[in-house]
Amino acid sequence: MTAADGTVPTSMRREGDYLVIDWSDGTIARLSWKMLRDACPCAGCREERDKPADPFRILKPQELVPLAPVAMPKVGRYAYKIVWSDGHDAGIFTLEHLRELSRRTTGELS
Ligand SMILES: [Zn+2]
Repeated sequence: MTAADGTVPTSMRREGDYLVIDWSDGTIARLSWKMLRDACPCAGCREERDKPADPFRILKPQELVPLAPVAMPKVGRYAYKIVWSDGHDAGIFTLEHLRELSRRTTGELS
């Protein structure tokens, strides 16, 4: 199970508002859950993101509380699914996608 550049996560853990991934090349990525939810690759979320923002939209009750992940099961050999506290679980994050998100946070690498 590797991303295209040959790296694998050697450990993944939840630290408060972040998913912390240790990659096999020695980098440590801290991805906020918000970032992950905003990057949810499922069709429903992509559609939602493509819509123009409605300034008069009323927030749903579950949008008023910060979303939290409740589980992150492995899907097949190359992906993880994030199950959110609002019940949303359609997003499958491939290792490649997680790697790309990790690269985007390079400035925040610890
Ligand atoms: Zn989604």
